[in-house]
Amino acid sequence: MNLSSSNLERLLTTSDPVAVDDLYEEACRQRDAVYGRKVFMRGLIEVSSHCRNNCLYCGLRRDMKCERYRLSKEQILHCCRTGYGLGFRTFVMQGGEDGWMTDERVCDIVRAVKAEFPDCAVTLSLGERGRESFARLREAGADRYLLRHETADPAHYARLHPAEMRFEHRMQCLQDLRELGFQVGAGFMVGSPDQSIATLMKDLEFIDRFRPEMVGIGPFIPAAGTPFEHEPAGSVELTLRLLAIIRIMHPHVLLPATSALGTLHPQGRERAIRAGANVVMPNLSPQDTRALYSIYNNKLATGSEAAESAADIRARMKAIGMEVPTERGDYQGTKNQASVQ
Ligand code: SAM
Ligand code: SF4
Repeated sequence: MNLSSSNLERLLTTSDPVAVDDLYEEACRQRDAVYGRKVFMRGLIEVSSHCRNNCLYCGLRRDMKCERYRLSKEQILHCCRTGYGLGFRTFVMQGGEDGWMTDERVCDIVRAVKAEFPDCAVTLSLGERGRESFARLREAGADRYLLRHETADPAHYARLHPAEMRFEHRMQCLQDLRELGFQVGAGFMVGSPDQSIATLMKDLEFIDRFRPEMVGIGPFIPAAGTPFEHEPAGSVELTLRLLAIIRIMHPHVLLPATSALGTLHPQGRERAIRAGANVVMPNLSPQDTRALYSIYNNKLATGSEAAESAADIRARMKAIGMEVPTERGDYQGTKNQASVQ
């Protein structure tokens, strides 16, 4: 498929349903050639809702006056035990940028998880840290790190974040993570305020250049109480097209069908898989903390149990002809050395 910038712009804006169907079909062909009909499950553990940052879009931003929590090592291990029994072989520990999560504490948790579940991958998503800190987490056994770049346009980045958050630092973190040997996840929200075709083209160029092992994209959803609470949500259709384009551009990428898509559309995750995605991330967090991790409004499966979320997603994937193997689901491409610049 022609991925010139003029054709990409056309694919993002066309109202021709045949062109869009062709795009999805090609994306699935590319995915199936690398990963077959497998959808990899990751168990999401929302480890802390404390955050020192004030990202304008996020319901966990520091200025939100909300009840906060963090999970203990024992609670996290308990989530992993439940997840392991349900067939999960990757645990994703995600949270706000919480000063309590020192290197020592995070390393201790990572070591404990790796010791008890040596056949599982540990993914961290704890925001920006220094290179030394990332190096310690890697040394402790963390395999992957998710840090969305949020937008590859510095002016747009400044619109979404307070002045103390620097685009250059975010890029430096991604560079450090790559150099330290993590499988790296970048990504962005679709439909964030002031996003345009021009900024999306920069995101696609960035992904093409940096070739992250994982790309998390999902629609922006307004969060009550944030500066963007009255902004419109992102488009499901545009998100699906971007997923398909990213798959064709980078056939080996691990591409989640995000919960944000499932929140905006009852078949959002199935549609993402049909557009070339191959990862799902059911929630393994304790039932009583889920509602407190409210990044955006009406977040999916807030009250359900881990077993229920996992069974639901498995059934959904099987219904559309996909397998859900009990595997770590590592990146299958060759090791990538590209830099952010
Ligand atoms: N604090 C870490 C970080 O920022 O990388 C991890 C947790 S953060 C909640 C994970 C991701 O949620 C962010 O990268 C952002 O893209 C997404 N997110 C935050 N607010 C959102 C919103 N209102 N709608 C959709 N996604 C959102
Ligand atoms: Fe904190 Fe991450 Fe939310 Fe930003 S997106 S406020 S860093 S939890």
